[in-house]
Amino acid sequence: MLRTHTCGELTAKNEGQTTTICGWVNSRRDHGGLIFIDVRDRYGITQVVFHPESDKDVFNIAETLRPEWVVSATGTVSRRLEGTTNPKMATGEIEVATTGLTVLNKAKTPPFEIDAEKEANEELRLEYRYLDLRRTRMKKNIELRSQVFQIIRKYFTDKQCLEIDTPCLIKGTPEGAREYVVPSRVYPGNFFVLPQSPQQLKQLCMVGGLDRYFQIARCFRDEDLRGDRQPEFLQLDFEMSFCTQEDVQEIIEGSIREIIATCSKKKLQGSAVPKYTWKHVMDTYGSDKPDLRYDLPITDVSHFCEGCGFKVFEDALKLKNGTVRAIRIPKGAELSRSEIDTWTELVKELKAKGLAYILFKPEGPSSPLLKFFKDGFLDDLQKATGAETGDALFFGADTYKIVCAALSRVRSEAAKRFGLIDETIHSLFWVTNFPMFEEQDDGSLTFSHHPFTSPNMDEWENRKTKPTSVHAVCYDLVMDGYELGSGSIRIHDPILQQEVFEMLGISPEDQQKRFGHMLKAFEYGAPPHGGFAYGIDRVVMILAGEPNIREVTPFPKDQKAKDLLLGAPSPILAAQLKELEIKLLA
Ligand code: ASP
Repeated sequence: MLRTHTCGELTAKNEGQTTTICGWVNSRRDHGGLIFIDVRDRYGITQVVFHPESDKDVFNIAETLRPEWVVSATGTVSRRLEGTTNPKMATGEIEVATTGLTVLNKAKTPPFEIDAEKEANEELRLEYRYLDLRRTRMKKNIELRSQVFQIIRKYFTDKQCLEIDTPCLIKGTPEGAREYVVPSRVYPGNFFVLPQSPQQLKQLCMVGGLDRYFQIARCFRDEDLRGDRQPEFLQLDFEMSFCTQEDVQEIIEGSIREIIATCSKKKLQGSAVPKYTWKHVMDTYGSDKPDLRYDLPITDVSHFCEGCGFKVFEDALKLKNGTVRAIRIPKGAELSRSEIDTWTELVKELKAKGLAYILFKPEGPSSPLLKFFKDGFLDDLQKATGAETGDALFFGADTYKIVCAALSRVRSEAAKRFGLIDETIHSLFWVTNFPMFEEQDDGSLTFSHHPFTSPNMDEWENRKTKPTSVHAVCYDLVMDGYELGSGSIRIHDPILQQEVFEMLGISPEDQQKRFGHMLKAFEYGAPPHGGFAYGIDRVVMILAGEPNIREVTPFPKDQKAKDLLLGAPSPILAAQLKELEIKLLA
């Protein structure tokens, strides 16, 4: 090694030792003839000092040093003078009195200061990610990420899982998202796709008798991006044979518990990881991934609304799946008009037509709606929701889906506005009993998890009369308001799999074309099996308290799915296109 110590390890215990450290010039201070350089590496920062009376050549080089130059400094570890120690730094008691200095590499002035208090803009940070990674915040996130990988590997290996890698060039696994495609040169006109997840391959591992599998799998989804999404991301992918959903849940939640216990200062809320049905969380919180670090439940008030006098509520009940629901916000009466306007705009983005409200002010209830209410209706609402003086009620009146989305948004905005989130805990729970099928706007059915999910066989007989009443044996794990991941017990019977494909509108020919390999495999003794996958970036993001997964991804794409560092995607050479027999339309 070019160094004897890192920049994070020298303390008073090393006093008198000769050391060589290597790193980047974090800062330089000239003090009355003395030059102090803070040298930084991954492990910390060490102060090195140059005395003018020491070697002239060394001093002269020290005078030329600029931020981010790469240096090697040799000298004696000495205690700092009293009053100049820095208890905040691990190396704050010492400095290196330098006798030798080598510039290993010069650096241009970086486009942003590495240890600046204020963050540089994100575009610049992504374009110069290698500089961004030198910052403490990023370094900590990368360290945390690496720690999570280690825990996962050990945990799942201890659970008798084999770490099995699956290919990235595969046939499409249509699980809802758009796929990235890769043209084949050898078979022009044919394409591989990049896996959205190793779903089918992990199931085939079970058919292959491997019993328990895990993988830190890279997944690709060509979706429009949101804060906690990336075109490519890592998931902990898991599958096991001869299991119930409870077996899968126990193993998965154990891994998250272990990650939290090792990597987070926060405690898990409660000792057990609760299980709620999809219907319960939707009805009570308006979301299938509510943040339960605070309560703020939603109340169904539909049954009071018939003939209530307010047309918007009355009309909502006439819609298919129409409902009227209210959320009580304690202290909400202090919300200003402009805050309510902002929330109204937010729910309009979710297709709500508006946001009706009542503020229970000390001088009496105030709302543009009151004049429409028939006698007794306000009392009914107050009784049902428990609204008291000082509170606010916000209403959603529309289809169930829209009302849930709107009031869930109000719920989370209110929690932020009134500081209701308990930041000392992590809330972790299961959501179970999802509907097997969702009805699309055109009346056709789509899967709510993926097409390999087993229906609840006790309800399967209702598939013909009311398919949307059939539940799937699938489950999500939710943490602090984020869906960490989903899983299910899979179909292992080829006949049932074909029937589900048919209900999803996939013709027998298409089934063969797209999933023939799965149907064939199921004919050769597929064991009952199930699994799960959770987003590792998302877990790290939550633990790091970061607002989005780009902050915990070493080399992320930006919000428009571009790699600003490498400049990708980019055109390819005409010769490459020709080889692939691809002609561009524009
Ligand atoms: N393949 C699923 C996903 O990526 C997870 C699973 O069912 O195991 O969401």
